[in-house]
Amino acid sequence: MAAGLAARIEAVALAPGLYLVATPIGAARDITLRALDVLNSADVLAAEDTRTLRHLLEIHGIPLRGRRIVAYHDHNADRARPALINALREGASIAYTSDAGTPLVADPGFKLSRDAAAAGLRLHPVPGPSAALAALTIAGLPSDRFLFAGFPPAASGARDTWLRQWAAVDATLILYESPRRVKDTLGKLCEIEANRPIVICRELTKKFEEVIRGTAAELADSIPDEGLRGEIVLVLDRPAPLVADDDRIRSELRQALLSASVKDAAREVAQRLGLPRRDVYQLALQMAAGE
Ligand code: SAM
Repeated sequence: MAAGLAARIEAVALAPGLYLVATPIGAARDITLRALDVLNSADVLAAEDTRTLRHLLEIHGIPLRGRRIVAYHDHNADRARPALINALREGASIAYTSDAGTPLVADPGFKLSRDAAAAGLRLHPVPGPSAALAALTIAGLPSDRFLFAGFPPAASGARDTWLRQWAAVDATLILYESPRRVKDTLGKLCEIEANRPIVICRELTKKFEEVIRGTAAELADSIPDEGLRGEIVLVLDRPAPLVADDDRIRSELRQALLSASVKDAAREVAQRLGLPRRDVYQLALQMAAGE
């Protein structure tokens, strides 16, 4: 396989700058041809895990040709960054990969790209796989507005607060979660909105890829106590619209109409109850007309 693919890898003259290169999240052939070109041609290779990048290069038949791979990860980032920035200042092309998927997406790379940008150096995206977007494409949930919130905190109390905060946002919510904590997280989501549709995307693009759909309550029930295996993305539907019951709207409108016009009363009540202003206005008109 490597030979066929390697034949299409081109030695290209790379412009100087930092190349943020996305790599597969499972299936090795999900690498893009441009990513291979960049990895083949960059002056310097940098990686979250040098062994992982070395393995990827081997799979795709890309020679190192004397280039070394510089480690850049959470534990050495502050020490390793100045040398990389200096190399960029001197006109080098540097390709950076994280362990899997897109660098900076719940992975290192942010401070490196921030410092490179602040120094007026060129950054080049080399887009490709990311578990968040892969999950969104198969979740079957609205995709016009979504929020990637990363990993919930590990500590139970902090996770509770964090989930309540993000679960209230009116957007499809994408979370990364540890397979051991997924049951507990779904349990906490049940307390927020038990009927919320959720999709568990497990081991995407890998042999045991699995998609499990259900409400928060159904999924929390179905997961064994010891949790799941493999890598997990949770995709949550947006929160159910706030529906105030008719009696409550009428009573709030009655009160508001004592001191405001129909239009102002409707606007005030709609805003307070989070309801569409037009619907509340129609009801206010009927009430003002004595219906
Ligand atoms: N940078 C990566 C990206 O672009 O998706 C994410 C890195 S983050 C450290 C690793 C987390 O991503 C995993 O714990 C899991 O939540 C998610 N993930 C990565 N690969 C996955 C896969 N093949 N299937 C499901 N989730 C995956």
